[in-house]
Amino acid sequence: MRALVIHGGAGAVPVRMPEAERTAYEESLGRVVDAGFAILTGGGTSLDAVVTAVAMLEDDPLFNAGRGAALTRDRTAELDAAVMDGRDQNAGAVTCVTRIKNPVLLARRVMEESSHVLLAGAGAEEFALEQGMGLMPNRYFRTGRRLAHVESMQHGEDVPDLMPASQGTVGAVALDTAGDLAAATSTGGLTNRLPGRVGDTPVIGAGTYAKNGVCGVSATGEGESFMRTVAAHHIAAAVEYRAMPLREAVTELVHEILPGIGGRGGIIAVGADGTIATDFNTPGMFRAERDASGRRTVAIGP
Ligand code: ASP
Repeated sequence: MRALVIHGGAGAVPVRMPEAERTAYEESLGRVVDAGFAILTGGGTSLDAVVTAVAMLEDDPLFNAGRGAALTRDRTAELDAAVMDGRDQNAGAVTCVTRIKNPVLLARRVMEESSHVLLAGAGAEEFALEQGMGLMPNRYFRTGRRLAHVESMQHGEDVPDLMPASQGTVGAVALDTAGDLAAATSTGGLTNRLPGRVGDTPVIGAGTYAKNGVCGVSATGEGESFMRTVAAHHIAAAVEYRAMPLREAVTELVHEILPGIGGRGGIIAVGADGTIATDFNTPGMFRAERDASGRRTVAIGP
C-alpha cells in the first residue's frame, strides 16, 4: 500500500487564471507527484518521497516556497519548513531562514543531525554551514511577480490577500510500503507580513504532523488560524482518540473549526490505510495525488 498527496497552496479563484498559467501549475504538480511516487514504487521511504517532492516545489518559482517565496513588508524572503517522520514522531523545522535554497532539506538535517526540533534564523543558517550546505543570496528567492504583489499591497491596491500570486505554500504527505507515514511543508509565508512573523508551517502539530498508525497532515492557508486550532494535530487526534474516519476529521477541521475563528485554507492528509483526504474552504487548492492503485489526480479548483 502506498500513497502520495502534494499541495501547492490554497487560495483564490482559479477561473481568473490564464490558461497558460493554469497549465504550468498542473504540469509542475503532475511532474512532482510522479517523481515522489516513483520513490515509493522503487521501495523508497515516505520520508524520502515527501522531502524530494517539497524540494522540487521549492525550486519552482511558481510556488510560494524557496525560490518564488512571498515577501515580507521589507520585501525580503523569510522561509519556513518542517518535516515529520511518522515512525518515531521525530521532527525537524526551520523558520525565518533567508539564505537556504531548500529549507526542507535543512529541516531534515535538524531532525536527523541535531537533538532539536526547530531552529530559527541565523542559528539555523550557522547549522546549515556546519552541515556543509551552501548559502544563497536573498535575491535568489525574490521574483518579479512576488515583488509586484507586495508593492501593490503596500500601495493599497485591492488585491485579495490569498490571490494566486500570494499563495503557493507547498506540502507533501506519503505512506510507503512499510506502512510508514511522513509529512513535509515549506513556505515563504504571507505577503506583506511583519518581518519575523512565524506561521504554522514550521510549527509541528499546526501545519505539519505525522504519526504511524494514525495519519500524516500538511496544511496551507492563513497560518495564524492553523496555529490557534493546532490544526494538523487536531485531525490526528480526531482519528486516534475519536475513531473518526480521516476524511471526516479533515472536513470538520476545514469547514467547522477553522471557519469558527475566521480561518481560511486547506489540508492534505494520508491515513494509515492509504486513504487520501484533501479539503479546503477557499475557492481552490493546488494539489495532486497518486493513490494506492496508482491513480493520478491533478486539480486546482473545487
Ligand atoms: N500557511 C502559510 C503561512 O501562514 C501560508 C500559506 O499556506 O499560504 O505562513
